[in-house]
Amino acid sequence: MKVLHNKIEGKLLKEALKSDVRERTTLSFYKYWNLGNPGFFRDYLYLHLEELEVLGRIYVAKEGINAQISVPDDRFEGLKDFLNSISFLKGNRLNVAVEAHAKSFFKLSIKVREKIVADGLSDETFDVTNRGKHLSAKEFNELTDDPETIIVDMRNHYESEVGHFEGAILPDVDTFREELPLVADLLKGKEDKNIVMYCTGGIRCEKASAWMKHNGFSRVHQLEGGIIEYARQIRAQGLPNKFRGKNFVFDERLGERISDEIIARCHVCGNPADTHYNCRNTSCHVLFIECDSCREKLEGCCSDDCRDVIHLPEEEQKELRRKLFTGVRYFHKGRGKQRIFRLRSESETQ
Ligand SMILES: [Zn+2]
Ligand SMILES: [Zn+2]
Repeated sequence: MKVLHNKIEGKLLKEALKSDVRERTTLSFYKYWNLGNPGFFRDYLYLHLEELEVLGRIYVAKEGINAQISVPDDRFEGLKDFLNSISFLKGNRLNVAVEAHAKSFFKLSIKVREKIVADGLSDETFDVTNRGKHLSAKEFNELTDDPETIIVDMRNHYESEVGHFEGAILPDVDTFREELPLVADLLKGKEDKNIVMYCTGGIRCEKASAWMKHNGFSRVHQLEGGIIEYARQIRAQGLPNKFRGKNFVFDERLGERISDEIIARCHVCGNPADTHYNCRNTSCHVLFIECDSCREKLEGCCSDDCRDVIHLPEEEQKELRRKLFTGVRYFHKGRGKQRIFRLRSESETQ
């Protein structure tokens, strides 16, 4: 039987990709759909996407599919044909990344999950299909020109820290799960105002807008296709850009620039900077923002302590790693003052 997952080591995969000179397109798509047998669908996808040389991360659940992938440009049409051959994905929008970056993924991973986005909600309690009104970039600009309109960023603090829409409320949360009840609470008394929500690719707002309507908000809107699609539309149609800074994305790039402004600061020295890195000390691996000069001084680490660790013999480093947690860590609150680390399990990422 054919092996339906990657058996090759990450390092070798990176090498293999380096020798492939073809340009790749990075894209994402999602669809809420009632899947009878996610496991079967997962294997079916793997078989075909591997053949199309697709790389990336895909979650499949009873509630649908959420994919962040890259494909060689000469296989892009083939991929579209394949997706269109699946009834519920026919004509579904593909969010193509703004910045061309060939090496955003190194392998193909398709996982069956409880949810395609970890939202902490039990869907029986409300109608997820009763979602907010979709807005195009042009409609978004028009509606947000009205000072009465409330704009809410539905992403986490480390995402909005490097880029967000002008005048948006930026909840200080680590996860989407935390954000939902907080936003409904925050906007109490504004049930009749126009509310516009946005996120990276639109998927979180599909649920969040339904949640807000369930909580009594009557004029809920969502930016269709999220920041990624907004950036594409303002370029294609020559519209004014209301997004400042970078759009944080969950692949090797960790962000794509939408406007030239740098709105964040280096977590080490406080100078303007908006590039995220993972600390080079693998037992730390914290996600943080670092400027070029600190990056050079600390050799890609987040602190002197971590820099000391990477100069230890490999054996000692391994021992340290064994003692510490694994997982993704990032600066809590992302403001650089208190360096409190928190662990984020993989299921909490997008
Ligand atoms: Zn710095
Ligand atoms: Zn570190």
